[in-house]
Amino acid sequence: MTITRRTLVLAAAGAATLAASAARAQAPAAPAVAPAAAAPRFVQPALPYADTALAPVISQRTVQFHYGRHHAGQYAALNRLTENRFYATLSLEQIVRRASIIPEDQAILNQAGQALNHDIYWRQFTPGGPKVASGALLARIDAEMGGFAKLKTDLLASANALFGSGWTWLVQNADGKLAIVNTPNGNNPLGRNQTPLLGIDVWEHAYYLDWENARGDHVRAVLDELVNWSVVAERLRTS
Ligand code: MN
Repeated sequence: MTITRRTLVLAAAGAATLAASAARAQAPAAPAVAPAAAAPRFVQPALPYADTALAPVISQRTVQFHYGRHHAGQYAALNRLTENRFYATLSLEQIVRRASIIPEDQAILNQAGQALNHDIYWRQFTPGGPKVASGALLARIDAEMGGFAKLKTDLLASANALFGSGWTWLVQNADGKLAIVNTPNGNNPLGRNQTPLLGIDVWEHAYYLDWENARGDHVRAVLDELVNWSVVAERLRTS
């Protein structure tokens, strides 16, 4: 076995440190990390509507817990975990792509993934938009997913079939085609080279205060009453 600098680093400092070192080594000129007293590197986006705007499908109380505690807590944890690390120089999307293939960084993936998942989630419920897909997105749904009604039926079935905590997604694959996938825990489709277009949170914290164990009824109401399909359409890649 050839002794390289990397194996020496591994022997000396362990795999987690190696991952960070390798990450830094690949960066031509990593910017200096901000001092600890500076503002947080990652900032939770403001909710783009009042916390009452999604009721009764998602109550004010659920939004207060879900956005104000769970999602906020993920940003706080991500800032702690990435402090003084190369990850602090990346975007959320870049962190998710990288940490998805580095097993030692699962803890960072959990927090970055959930921070990003919930960014996607809240924004797609922006009130005032169309409750149905149209235009180029609808044409693709008709051609590739069997129509809009079937898309919603299949998203609901996928959400109901998810065991444990996770997310149901409408994604766009690398080849441009639409698909429905589930991801476990805090994973995001970007980690599998898929673009997330619509994300349904199937963690119990997303619905239990309002719907108790009726996950399917909650997901059906989200799809029928909350999704702003203009926001979903904006996420479609054209290349
Ligand atoms: Mn959630």
